[in-house]
Amino acid sequence: MNPVPFKNEPFTDFSKPENKKAFEQAIEKIKSTIGREIPLVIGGEKIITEDKIKSLNPAKFDEVLGYVSKTGKAEAEKAMSAALKAFETWQYTDYKVRADYLFKAADIMRKRKHEFSACMVLEVGKNWMEADGDTAEAIDFMEFYAREILRYGPDQPLEQIPTEHGRMVYIPIGVGIVIPPWNFPNAIMAGMTTASIVAGNTVILKPSSDAPLIAYMLVEVFEELGLPVGVLNYCPGSGAEVGDFLVDHPKTRFIAFTGSKEVGLRIVERAAKTNPGQLWIKRVIAEMGGKDAIIVDKDADLEAAATGIVASAFGFQGQKCSACSRTILHKDIYDELLKKIVEKTKKIKVGPTVDVDNYMGPVSSLNAFKKIKEYIETGKKEGRLMCGGDAHKDDKGWFIPPTIIADVDPKAVIAKEEIFGPVLTVIKANDFDNALSIANDTEYGLTGSYYGSDIEKIKTIEQRFHVGNLYINRKCTGALVAVHPFGGFNMSGTDSKAGGRDYMLLFLQAKAISRMKGIPPFK
Ligand code: NAP
Ligand code: MG
Repeated sequence: MNPVPFKNEPFTDFSKPENKKAFEQAIEKIKSTIGREIPLVIGGEKIITEDKIKSLNPAKFDEVLGYVSKTGKAEAEKAMSAALKAFETWQYTDYKVRADYLFKAADIMRKRKHEFSACMVLEVGKNWMEADGDTAEAIDFMEFYAREILRYGPDQPLEQIPTEHGRMVYIPIGVGIVIPPWNFPNAIMAGMTTASIVAGNTVILKPSSDAPLIAYMLVEVFEELGLPVGVLNYCPGSGAEVGDFLVDHPKTRFIAFTGSKEVGLRIVERAAKTNPGQLWIKRVIAEMGGKDAIIVDKDADLEAAATGIVASAFGFQGQKCSACSRTILHKDIYDELLKKIVEKTKKIKVGPTVDVDNYMGPVSSLNAFKKIKEYIETGKKEGRLMCGGDAHKDDKGWFIPPTIIADVDPKAVIAKEEIFGPVLTVIKANDFDNALSIANDTEYGLTGSYYGSDIEKIKTIEQRFHVGNLYINRKCTGALVAVHPFGGFNMSGTDSKAGGRDYMLLFLQAKAISRMKGIPPFK
């Protein structure tokens, strides 16, 4: 099988009436399933539990989108048995056959693209474009990882000696626990899950409690394709309750996690402990938070910088690990640029994202709402409130207006801690060196941007701005699979580079085999 070269999935143009109409129909379709009951899927068996997770619409929180069964320890143990059993055969299934499942799943998702996106509009409050981008990324991950296993599947090149035939192959590692966040509930969930599976591993997928429905839609795709039972087990449940149990389990071979620093570090620590019956050192892939900065120099195109900052800070309500959460402006252009940023921000429309005209929707949950509100109150004391700030829960959804706080000290709380919401901290820098050192003065190192025109300074930034994903003269969000392999440094995680050529190796191990001459060589 020789697939065509990888190409990113195009985004939908919603200015075309036919696309707008198709998306509206998809929203209606998802709405028609509101209140449905979702089972666990363990070893192909659908299990309904009494205890439920309610998947809520954050723009209309009296609307329960689905009643999702909840994995307890007994179900988690059952899922582990099913995944172990499936691994016995799935690991030896030809890698080309495994790749084919992903190609086909990508095809199905492409056909139902708007339904997947519409689910995210309702379940996590993405606007249409953000949801469309998320689904495009999920499709990209499947297309990309399928091609990656075709690259890693065959024998790898080796030096040969006269007395032996040698070969080296990559083999899968075992049962993985896949734990995604709610903020890229299709792309990251599908990416971590399908990379694990295509490598020949089996998976227990524990989606975020804030986004279990979209994960179930992916599970349904693989069911439709006849993926062998037990290869993908769907186990929503409370991270606090069942997360530790699965992470600690002696038969867990690896954990693929994306989420907060707190939970990521907890997983790293617990996975490092060897439990009775455990035969291996667990692998942990942990992609965590960010406190991403955009630096604007005095010779930058200020219009472009303002546009990039506003898009990076407030796209999807600032709830991206890559979101611009600090902007560091050279003192010579500080006032002029701040004014532009505030003007653009004030034009943003906030409201339920079922309406295509609302650029910003609600934040994800009541907990998120409360946390962000607290940071805004802290920020009001630490700087000058330029716009937003009046976070209030109306009787329908958790809406927070885009908030800008200027004149903030680089050591302030809101300049240091990740705020997972629409809050932008603006900091004044005395000069280029000062701006760079403020940008690097963080425990995180995920994304960053620099706006400026001096090539020597750009080269310095490229060398010294310590982030996993660095952008020059563009926004710091919107990484594309295979174009911008994604992952961060320091407390932003293990720099796994999702959507890059190293990623698949995280799910494989290499086996070198030598046959003495005299027996037939490898075929
Ligand atoms: P989170 O609260 O850390 O949750 C992430 C996942 O971990 C959820 O599925 C959660 O389940 C689960 N979990 C919670 N406690 C657990 C435990 N003790 N053991 C195992 N799993 C547990 O993060 P989030 O709020 O979903 O996502 C936002 C965070 O993700 C931000 O910090 C953001 O920067 C980061 N993020 C990073 C990247 C990246 O690539 N670096 C990408 C996207 C997001 P429950 O939902 O049931 O609690
Ligand atoms: Mg929700």
